Amino acid sequence: MKKFDHRSKGQYRALAAVARNSRAKRSAPAIKTRMDFFASAYREYLRNRGNPWLMSGHVCDQEFRETMAGLFESKIQAVSYIAALRRASRGGCCSMCGSLNNNQVDHYLPQDHYPEFSVFLPNLFPICSCNQAKGKKTVGPTYGERFLHPKFDRKIGERSLYVRIRNHDEAPTYTVVIRKPKRVRDTAAFSFHTRTLVSQNALVEHVKSGFERFCRRPGNVVRLLKRSNPDSKEHLIRLLRDEIDEVCWQHRTKNNWESVMLQALIERRTVAWLWKRLSVPGRNAGDPLVDL
Ligand SMILES: [Zn+2]
Repeated sequence: MKKFDHRSKGQYRALAAVARNSRAKRSAPAIKTRMDFFASAYREYLRNRGNPWLMSGHVCDQEFRETMAGLFESKIQAVSYIAALRRASRGGCCSMCGSLNNNQVDHYLPQDHYPEFSVFLPNLFPICSCNQAKGKKTVGPTYGERFLHPKFDRKIGERSLYVRIRNHDEAPTYTVVIRKPKRVRDTAAFSFHTRTLVSQNALVEHVKSGFERFCRRPGNVVRLLKRSNPDSKEHLIRLLRDEIDEVCWQHRTKNNWESVMLQALIERRTVAWLWKRLSVPGRNAGDPLVDL
């Protein structure tokens, strides 16, 4: 879950360049004859902020759909912004679920139903394998249910994913807690999005491995803990908060899963448990918190 600020200017010009490109044998004529249609479709998208409940019907033309899918995959210079987006975001934070494994560029409105937005930058986002859960869906069964739009739903990057760790001493348990940020008004969309796209199992696995990493080698999670122990619980919280700030800055969202893991460590009961272990008399900085 990450906010993206794509530019939308120049998209019509990019299409015009494809239409003029003699090497784009298939897409050039298909686009040339539909320039007016594209112009009004792009305007409609921006006006409705891509909201599938407000967008008009689908284009049912198999040939056009295939042509646009081909253009999306092509190396034509006019649409090189797609390859650039793919390159720039690989391995980064998934715009839809917040995992750190994004490996493809996806269409917010799927190109199978909306081929006219196949190469429209405001419709394109880096995404991970949660793309499979998204599939060709655009809306949920109840009115208003839709995915959050990484460009238009401005609060998508506000912290809303939490994991609570309990039973620290025995076999720790992990519970995902999803809280809608106060300023998010579209409850139906928020709940459909998080329910459908955020894999709770995968998020728990990420937090579990981070917690275990911290217990084995605290200094591998918070570098300063390699050489020194915190003076107090408050000091430990400050160090963890610094790490959180760093990963949120790096991924430009608070819902990146590394931040969710670190946030789980400063949750009241977990940080109290960690502090108890870190402050054992005679413990050397960097020592594990558990028996290895
Ligand atoms: Zn994802």
